[in-house]
Amino acid sequence: MLIIFLGPPGAGKGTQAKIFLERAGIVQISTGDILRAAVAKGSPLGTQAKGFMDKGELVPDSVVIGIIEERIQEEDCKKGFVLDGFPRTLEQARALDEILLKLHLHLDHVVNFEVPDEELVERLLGRAQQEGRSDDNPESIKNRLQIFKDKTQPLIQYYAEKKKLRPIDGLGSMAEIADRVKAVVGI
Ligand code: AMP
Repeated sequence: MLIIFLGPPGAGKGTQAKIFLERAGIVQISTGDILRAAVAKGSPLGTQAKGFMDKGELVPDSVVIGIIEERIQEEDCKKGFVLDGFPRTLEQARALDEILLKLHLHLDHVVNFEVPDEELVERLLGRAQQEGRSDDNPESIKNRLQIFKDKTQPLIQYYAEKKKLRPIDGLGSMAEIADRVKAVVGI
């Protein structure tokens, strides 16, 4: 089972990925988590990524594509995985298609979390207070939402054309949204 969770920052992808993988027994791959761990470690990858992340900009495609290509070949991905926060650009989506083709893997679903902008800003500001993520400040939030519209939104059309898109309403309780994920994915 290979699934992409698509949606703007603050849409609940990470939270729902965690709920889903407990149910489905597969792993979550979040490029944001991998990058934050690299920043915390002060590794060369982290040093390279930090400037982009703090401003709410995207880390270059080549960097995240490389991360994903390595990560999905690890042993724990054999039963399947949820990609959370990747792909975020058309270039990343096309690269992913090539990688999957090369590895003889098949994409099952792209779950698209639909949440209005006003709600996203409120959630991200709330998360800033709770988790203290350095990129959850008003300037970075504005930037990330704009980048989502410019760079990531075209993926909706891209996956709709491939008949992979499963849109769901991202408003409601965690349990309600988890049920909607279940309804479209079948697990
Ligand atoms: P996230 O936790 O998914 O919101 O990601 C946090 C930050 O990490 C983003 O604002 C980007 O700076 C960077 N990032 C995560 N995933 C990607 C990606 N697929 N492409 C480029 N940058 C990414």
